[in-house]
Amino acid sequence: MIVIDGAEGEGGGQVLRTALSLSLVTGRPFRIENIRGGRERPGTLRQHVTAVEAACAIGGAECEELKVGADALTFTPGTVQPGEHRFAVGTAGSTSLVLQTLLPPLMLAGGPSRLVLEGGTHNIYAPPFDFLERVFLPILNRMGPTVTATLVRPGFYPAGGGRIEVEIAPSAALSRLDLIERGALRSVSARAVIAALPGDIAVRELESVAKVLAWPDEARRIETLPDHYGPGNILLLEAVFEGATELVSGFGKLGVPAQMVGAKAAKRMAGYLASDAVAGPYLADQLLLPMALAGGGRFTTVKPSSHARTAADTIARFLPVSIRFEEGERHHLVTVSAD
Ligand code: ATP
Repeated sequence: MIVIDGAEGEGGGQVLRTALSLSLVTGRPFRIENIRGGRERPGTLRQHVTAVEAACAIGGAECEELKVGADALTFTPGTVQPGEHRFAVGTAGSTSLVLQTLLPPLMLAGGPSRLVLEGGTHNIYAPPFDFLERVFLPILNRMGPTVTATLVRPGFYPAGGGRIEVEIAPSAALSRLDLIERGALRSVSARAVIAALPGDIAVRELESVAKVLAWPDEARRIETLPDHYGPGNILLLEAVFEGATELVSGFGKLGVPAQMVGAKAAKRMAGYLASDAVAGPYLADQLLLPMALAGGGRFTTVKPSSHARTAADTIARFLPVSIRFEEGERHHLVTVSAD
């Protein structure tokens, strides 16, 4: 039995999700203690319980001690069952984090799957749908499987009510990728998406983006969604290179001035553009697991986050791989290699 201390490193929910995915792929049971021990309110939240329940459902798995607020649980995987599955992630729980948990076993399963996930689609501290579609899935699809995600209805915190549908055509194995150079910049865009909120929020977000990023006027646009999707606001800054796409998001929040949302996201994009890395900080922690399942791979990234280093430690508990982080001049190099 693999025993994981959920308080180590980043000490967040991703340790649990990574362990669930890898347990389903490898068939190895695990016990996790001090779940989210690095967080102010430790223990499982509703969204983590949904991820575990979804993992049990697709993996014929059993879980002991599962409840909201659990600080330990034991997970025993069974046989992965591809096919049609639907999960409702509480009101506005992140659909993408549940997908993050289920994709590794389903993209290596014995048959295709179709997932319907309901909840939040644009949540702070989680990949927004657009990030999945534009950044993460295109790279995953270069490794063998074909995964397509469709946004049926957006869901913002706190109302939720969003829906995504995901088709997964698995592959028997994943192929290695070498993502070293991102190539030339092809296009940029700044989209301020808004639903049932005053339009000047989007205007102010884009104005503050323009102060940091000298992007052409036509690259900036406001997208107003029907009121019944709201209230909701997200700022999406995208840079498309020949060999990679980065999407930085800023989340509008009550009490946080729109200018600040815009300036912060723009500075993060400027940091990425000033590097010559392929992967931004979020893609970096999300790429480690598929690369480890492929038995190796390399990518350049900006400064590795503690999420990435913690994901590397969790992966090494399940798979015979080593993950090395090396600092270079305008990027860090991450190498995943089989032991
Ligand atoms: P906790 O409340 O414990 O922090 P959590 O379950 O929300 O837990 P984290 O451990 O913080 O999860 O992991 C969040 C995941 O979402 C990471 O894989 C991270 O890369 C991804 N993520 C967070 N924000 C973004 C973003 N803006 N764009 C893309 N991915 C993101």
